[in-house]
Amino acid sequence: MNGRVTLRPVVTCFLVVACVFFAADIALKSGHRTLGTVLFLVAAAPVLGGCLVIIVYDALVPALPVCGSGRCRKFKHYTYVRESHDGVIYRCRCGTEYVERRDKDAVRFMEVCSDGSVRPYMKHKRWGRWTPDAAGNSD
Ligand SMILES: [Zn+2]
Repeated sequence: MNGRVTLRPVVTCFLVVACVFFAADIALKSGHRTLGTVLFLVAAAPVLGGCLVIIVYDALVPALPVCGSGRCRKFKHYTYVRESHDGVIYRCRCGTEYVERRDKDAVRFMEVCSDGSVRPYMKHKRWGRWTPDAAGNSD
């Protein structure tokens, strides 16, 4: 989602990990069992760490927030309705529709009122948690 900023460290990390795996492979094949094992663990650590971060982040920051009535807490409690010019529209099990709009600085989750207007509900910044979106401002 943020390719320009995050791609370079990801690629660098990938190359470093690949090199260490390669070195571990050479060490193991040339009979250096201990060195090969150590290098293998060194290479595996950032991969496992990265996966752990993604799993923990996903658990802490659900893809969609709890709905207005507090009954729909998980992504599967929402149904995709359609794309609109504001963003993606979801309907929770209570029947309320919400728009998920990805702004430059934050993701906004807005309730669609019966007259078709949208009301700020929740928002989260990159790597942040869902917080009430009082005014629909960026801060
Ligand atoms: Zn609901």
